[in-house]
Amino acid sequence: MRVYDIIKKKRNGEELTKEEINFFVEKFSEGEIPDYQASALLMAIYLNKMNKKETAYLTEAMMKSGEVIDLSAINGIKVDKHSTGGVGDKTTIALTPLVAACNAPVAKMSGRGLGHTGGTLDKLEAIPGFSIEMSPEKFIESVNKHKIAVCGQTASIAVADKKMYALRDVTATVDNISLIASSIMCKKLASGSDAIVLDVKTGDGAFMKTIDDSFALAKEMVDIGTNMNRETIGLITDMNEPLGFAVGNSLEVIEAIETLKGRGPKDFVMLCETLGAYMLQLAKVVDNFEDGKAKIREAITSGSAIEKLKEFIENQGGDSRIVDDYSLLPQAKEIVEIKAPKTGYISKIEAEEVGVSAMMLGAGRETKEDQLDLSAGIVLTKKVADYVEEGETIAYMHFNKIEKAEAAKERFLNAYTISDEKVEQGKLVYGVVTKDETLKF
Ligand code: URA
Repeated sequence: MRVYDIIKKKRNGEELTKEEINFFVEKFSEGEIPDYQASALLMAIYLNKMNKKETAYLTEAMMKSGEVIDLSAINGIKVDKHSTGGVGDKTTIALTPLVAACNAPVAKMSGRGLGHTGGTLDKLEAIPGFSIEMSPEKFIESVNKHKIAVCGQTASIAVADKKMYALRDVTATVDNISLIASSIMCKKLASGSDAIVLDVKTGDGAFMKTIDDSFALAKEMVDIGTNMNRETIGLITDMNEPLGFAVGNSLEVIEAIETLKGRGPKDFVMLCETLGAYMLQLAKVVDNFEDGKAKIREAITSGSAIEKLKEFIENQGGDSRIVDDYSLLPQAKEIVEIKAPKTGYISKIEAEEVGVSAMMLGAGRETKEDQLDLSAGIVLTKKVADYVEEGETIAYMHFNKIEKAEAAKERFLNAYTISDEKVEQGKLVYGVVTKDETLKF
């Protein structure tokens, strides 16, 4: 078999066989296929697309290109949650203790952030002492004992995906549904959970900008999971404005804690309840969605979720006193108000632009090598549909890096549209995709 012939076949719009896809993934991981040929094939796939069969073969081949974790030593049905990434998405920090407090085991591997979206690992590292490194034995023991562990994805998982993603990133071949679906699902499948809830973000701050593409991505991933015998559900949720109010690592940890104390932002609480209810359903802790939602709410009101968060932090070496004393988290030296430039109703807050301005303040990385400022970020005080008076505070910028503060503020203000007419609040959940049906809300 020659990679040249595989490239030519895809260039001509033909379907690739399992053997051809396996050959490519194997040889590429082993360094036997040069980047220029891999890039050519990726572009051919990007332009001519792959069908469901090819996407499934690619996912399986990438999953097998690295370690496949065996979590069978953990009792119960392990449910994973994955978000395709957004601005202010601190969901894992609140949701994992919530679900664990309801007795569903959570064994989660998370990633770091790049660009305008944040990563869970960076947020967790804002907690003094918290370690995301764990031996496989400790990971399994933690979930059996505490029902919860979150660690960094090891370098040995889905080796081919790492190489391929790096190439896609520099060859304009990221935003292809088959390539995204296989890239996300190969890692989820290799990390060993029995069931998966996918939070597919849609809108301006997401990978998928349109609702149709987001449903298509969700469907593709649910089909892959189902074919690999993992019960998989995909929700399509909004990322046209930031999630909640806080954007930035330490600030998002505070918002997640406030949520577990029953004082979370409306949209974020609703998202946690919805994702949590599906996770409990897949873990067979409850029989239906409504019971799941009630159980999640009960974990907040009873205080069991906040206690679980403390247990989780302590088990991973962190200082759980931060839960009651936010001053123990990284603090920015400067906190500056941003004021509304005019009176009216907020009709748009472009999530991506808010993410980029937080990144400029130090909350995110422009390149993999960038050092984060875990204290930096932005806290909004208003959301879409809110009324503001000219000069009223719409956000607070937290930063130490004064050089970029003015430019970040300008960028932040450009994210806002304020109009004279009243504006309706947008949807948070657009629909759900299961193995049997697609429901649009
Ligand atoms: N996240 C991934 O892991 N892979 C993609 O291709 C896109 C988002």
